Amino acid sequence: MSGTLYVVGLGPGDQRFLIPEAADALALAEAVYGYGPYVERVPAREGQARHASDNRVELERAQDALAHAASGARVAMVSGGDPGVFAMAAAVIEAIEQGPESWRQIELLIVPGITAMLAVAAKAGAPLGHDFCAISLSDNLKPWEVIEKRLRLAAQAGFAMAFYNPVSKARPHQLDTAFDILREELPSSVPVIFGRAVGRPDERLRVAPLAHARGHMADMATCIIVGSIETRIVERPGKRALVYTPRRAVDA
Ligand code: SAH
Repeated sequence: MSGTLYVVGLGPGDQRFLIPEAADALALAEAVYGYGPYVERVPAREGQARHASDNRVELERAQDALAHAASGARVAMVSGGDPGVFAMAAAVIEAIEQGPESWRQIELLIVPGITAMLAVAAKAGAPLGHDFCAISLSDNLKPWEVIEKRLRLAAQAGFAMAFYNPVSKARPHQLDTAFDILREELPSSVPVIFGRAVGRPDERLRVAPLAHARGHMADMATCIIVGSIETRIVERPGKRALVYTPRRAVDA
């Protein structure tokens, strides 16, 4: 007997960011798995079991949800934002790759969500209007040297960049190191957007030139967008300035 596993993106916070397909999957699921704060965002429903787990046990969480689905149940795994962006969809597929043959028969439906960088970009203007990349600054799953190399090469290649997992208590100075590297490669006027808890009541948006960007301006709920050499600011009297990257690259 093989059931269904929905891997559902909840968007950045506000229920209005949840796509209808995600709402349908959550309504059908008999059990919800995920990191505690994300499980809490799913409105409780009678008859639906909730399995909240710690942030660091992603593969185990994926295995538990797959084992449950394999018994014939309809199970949802929830992630903030999009489940395929630094989140649970890859952990689930990794668990299927390593797991028993029967897990390959589970109906797997990955439901996309609005990822943090898109929510932050929309608040700021259109900083991702031309080529861009996304980099997790967490060195839990890759060496810090790899991150430094990617930052430098992405800046040289002319990408705007979105940073996920910008800081943690365990590595307070790395974001300042990242900005120092970017200052070697980019003009000091390049806009840096700090979007914190976008889509939640404590949302905050701040824009600083690269020269003044500092690690303490971000926490783990912040997604940072660093512009490319083309990214500009359009001032509007009495209204928030617009940060945008023109669609045409002049500096080819
Ligand atoms: N799957 C998620 C990302 C998980 S990694 C997504 O697609 O958005 C966790 C990181 O996402 C955080 O450290 C932060 O950089 C970013 N993030 C998640 N929610 C956010 C929000 N509401 N506002 C700003 N950044 C957010």
